[in-house]
Amino acid sequence: MKFEDQRDIMVQTQICRRGINDQRVLDAFLVVPRHEFVPHDMRTYSYSDHPLSIGEGQTISQPYIVALMLDLLQVRPTDHVLEIGAGSGYQTALLAKLAAEVYAVERIDSLMQHAKRLLRQLGYGNIHFRTGDGTRGWEKAFPPRDAFDRIIVAAGSPQVPQPLINQLAEGGRLVIPSGTRLAQELLLVTRRDGEILIEKHGGCAFVPLIGEEGWPDA
Ligand code: SAH
Repeated sequence: MKFEDQRDIMVQTQICRRGINDQRVLDAFLVVPRHEFVPHDMRTYSYSDHPLSIGEGQTISQPYIVALMLDLLQVRPTDHVLEIGAGSGYQTALLAKLAAEVYAVERIDSLMQHAKRLLRQLGYGNIHFRTGDGTRGWEKAFPPRDAFDRIIVAAGSPQVPQPLINQLAEGGRLVIPSGTRLAQELLLVTRRDGEILIEKHGGCAFVPLIGEEGWPDA
């Protein structure tokens, strides 16, 4: 079956049927070629209902969990989005379709370089890349921003890193899995009238967020 048809089926059976119906999110999933972000020897499984290994002990997340996080994030076309844990770059591509600008951070340089090359090749022009510890957020320097409308973390953290809360704009939304190294809960953190609110959105299991405000490197 053609990748495009597999993608349609993925959106219908794995995402829509489980209750996600934000049309902008669904449209992004319909156009981003997930198979390009999956290692060659696993292309056949690109559109299946689970995470896949991308090397360096990391994974490309299950499509549904990415959709759930993007549904909670409610990205608007004018938003500047900070993404921590770019990995394969798949979620980065989805964000680039939904937002004005994406600031992608990944701690493993080989993954970052691979994602950067691929995303450029695929024609995405609104993504800024950085290798480093994303638990510190996007520290100043180019481009000069001190707050983000949306922040998404694709690795599990022991707590919500304070630098990310500090870098969340007024009216902003931050989605992060938080809990133990093996199991977490999806948190939606919002800043409204200067106040920080935290909502829980169910269980999940991500690779650990490793860094100063995350887990120690084991
Ligand atoms: N969205 C990615 C998920 C990759 S898995 C995808 O679907 O491909 C999570 C990623 O977070 C891994 O690549 C891991 O290296 C990265 N990571 C872990 N701790 C990090 C940190 N402190 N800063 C930036 N990236 C981190």
